[in-house]
Amino acid sequence: MEDFNTLVDNTYREQRLNLANYLRKQGIYNDDVLAAIAFVPREYFVKPTFLNRSYEDTALPIECDQTISQPFTVAYMTQLLDINEGDRVLEIGTGSGYQAVILRVLGAKVFSVERIPDLYNDLLELFKRIKINIKIKLGDGTLGWKQYAPFNKIIVTAAAPFIPDELKRQLAVGGRLVVPVGTKDIQTMYLVERISHDEFIETPVGDFRFVPLIGKSGWSE
Ligand code: SAH
Repeated sequence: MEDFNTLVDNTYREQRLNLANYLRKQGIYNDDVLAAIAFVPREYFVKPTFLNRSYEDTALPIECDQTISQPFTVAYMTQLLDINEGDRVLEIGTGSGYQAVILRVLGAKVFSVERIPDLYNDLLELFKRIKINIKIKLGDGTLGWKQYAPFNKIIVTAAAPFIPDELKRQLAVGGRLVVPVGTKDIQTMYLVERISHDEFIETPVGDFRFVPLIGKSGWSE
């Protein structure tokens, strides 16, 4: 049957391989993550005006004043999550859809929440067109997605003022949550590991810049 894997467009294959090689030099060492970056056409997720910049290691604007994350950031967060085939992964902030597709290509069952209706509608259409199986929901991702919890992995791709409690509750024991926490201008990435029902280890792993997480356990509009 036709699916995302058999339909991938190879026009930019060379650039994708170069990007993966570049990210390896930048310190990304997980071969599966690098292979996913080398496989997924990032041009599917950028605006037509930025097509020729699809393989630069930079964030780019998408609709509704949001951004597609920098490839290094996507690779770094994905590596931190340590994805295993069949992992149930919750993403907060679907945005362009690129990060969600990388997770799916790595064999995860992906559940992703986006709060902006226009982006959500574009994503429904895009995922159908590129034949990828990712579940998306329109709403406030700071509340998680209770119906499908617990998740082995949770990734927040917008800047949080603090770690949303509800996301920790929806993380499976043994699970990993990656979330940028800080001000609207600069955030520290945290790896949160749930080592038992009520024990969590929170490790800061570097500074990043994201668009704000807006919601009940985020910033107000
Ligand atoms: N993962 C995305 C990054 C998109 S930028 C990618 O690969 O392109 C962050 C996204 O988070 C934006 O689309 C924004 O609308 C969304 N967002 C912000 N607050 C949110 C919330 N509370 N729930 C769900 N999505 C949210």
